[in-house]
Amino acid sequence: MLSKQDYLAIADKLNLPTNAFINGHFAASQSGATFATHNPATGQELGQIAACDEADVNQAVQKARQAFDSGTWSKKSPSERKQIMIQFVKLLRRHSHELAVMETLDSGKPIRDCETIDMQETIDCIQWHAEAIDKIYDQVAPTGDDAISMVIREPLGVVAAVLPWNFPMLMAAWKLGPALAAGNSVILKPAEETSMTCLRMAELAHEAGVPAGVLQVLPGLGDICGQALGRHMDIDGVSFTGSTEVGRYFLKYAAESNLKKVVLECGGKNPCIVLDDAERLDEVAEQVLTAVFWNMGENCSSNSRLIVQEGVKPLLMAKLQEKLGNWTTGDPMDPRYRLGSLVSKVHFDKVMGYIVKGQQEGATLVAGGKAIETGSGLFIEPTIFDDVTADMTIAQDEIFGPVLSVMTVKTATQAVALANDTCYGLAASVFTSHVRRAHLIAKAIKAGTVTVNCYGEGNLATPFGGYKQSGFGGRDNGVHAHDQYTELKTIWLDLTTESDAELD
Ligand code: NAP
Ligand code: MG
Repeated sequence: MLSKQDYLAIADKLNLPTNAFINGHFAASQSGATFATHNPATGQELGQIAACDEADVNQAVQKARQAFDSGTWSKKSPSERKQIMIQFVKLLRRHSHELAVMETLDSGKPIRDCETIDMQETIDCIQWHAEAIDKIYDQVAPTGDDAISMVIREPLGVVAAVLPWNFPMLMAAWKLGPALAAGNSVILKPAEETSMTCLRMAELAHEAGVPAGVLQVLPGLGDICGQALGRHMDIDGVSFTGSTEVGRYFLKYAAESNLKKVVLECGGKNPCIVLDDAERLDEVAEQVLTAVFWNMGENCSSNSRLIVQEGVKPLLMAKLQEKLGNWTTGDPMDPRYRLGSLVSKVHFDKVMGYIVKGQQEGATLVAGGKAIETGSGLFIEPTIFDDVTADMTIAQDEIFGPVLSVMTVKTATQAVALANDTCYGLAASVFTSHVRRAHLIAKAIKAGTVTVNCYGEGNLATPFGGYKQSGFGGRDNGVHAHDQYTELKTIWLDLTTESDAELD
């Protein structure tokens, strides 16, 4: 970590990318249209970003298809692709301070997270998939002696990834790593609030040797640029991360166009269960707070519901209050602060609206609940509601802000029932010292990831995605992510012979 002064000096020298990255070059949108992007912590406009529309999408898809068909990337051997991606990783590492600062400026996320989490995991993710690709084998099916059948994987072709604003670089990496490694041509559509780091990543990938047309970035508005990608007849697959509401559109777009493959990573209203037999309550309290408040709660796996058994509740609540002061909020460019600004005024108003609603519906506000006045920033105090019941809006809706809803249960059975009582199923955490109970609960919770005695999302080697309305069609991370970007092909070779003489 550097000092605030160092980060400000880096920010001063930054060359902020604003144009689309098409066929190896930065370019304005064909219409010349732009939209503003802001630093949400100060309200300052950072630049006018190219607003790509259908014409730009058509051009990028054509270049992506040409690149794919030419084989400059798709037909390279896995180890050749690996070498180029490792070079990309080296450039990301070399420019990591610059990228982290750019991320903080564009999103309001704290620099300490952008440096130590987002940037680090972005690098690790690209490296993981680069290193995996020359170690994944195809299969030979058990056919018997009169045939040989190979089950092989081929890249999909042209794939689009439509991204959210909460982890702009990292979500790009989750898609790019496996999609590029598998040999596809990739088009990224960053969220409109946060286009810059994606653009810079594409430039670095190109510098590392990823050929023109293989990685392109089209910034733009969701219902124009995102929709044009979703409906394009020559895109073979879309990997989307964002809200469940928008995710649904991509199924519709695919149904009404070319039945492209669709994978959705969507929202969550994730439970954290703490039972009476949980050990080391200080650590539990720290994990509970991290689970809900890190990244200002703008996190799909945020454990925004604390389901606590009544015996342990008084002590746990006291410890939460005691440790809440560690969650300092302030200038995201200052590495002392753990929390920065929310991403936009629209989102800030939405989160504040939920805080009002929680009070109106009868929940008890026990911490926070107010905006932090800084002039133009969009800061909200870490907020805790007690006495939340399952029928309340703040128990069901994904708030995507620093708001914890505490619900009390008498038994572990009630805890599981409550945990499963939302339309989502992305992630969950369970704290108990009883190993058998931990297993039973982990199996009973309908979620893609369940962590025991810790909060987390697993790591790069473990698949991440949701049950129920938290996801559709596949998983990010692990070798499982490669399934999203490949088609299975069966090659069946007949070996039946009339007689042994045929051998000659
Ligand atoms: P969002 O509003 O759903 O937007 C996601 C992306 O879709 C953006 O690029 C957006 O463009 C685009 N989009 C919006 N409307 C569209 C339309 N009509 N057609 C095509 N594309 C459209 O989500 P967000 O607010 O950026 O991110 C927050 C959400 O992401 C939360 O629900 C969170 O849980 C989820 N998330 C999930 C995961 C996971 O792995 N499961 C990870 C991170 C975040 P614009 O920017 O122009 O609106
Ligand atoms: Mg949005």
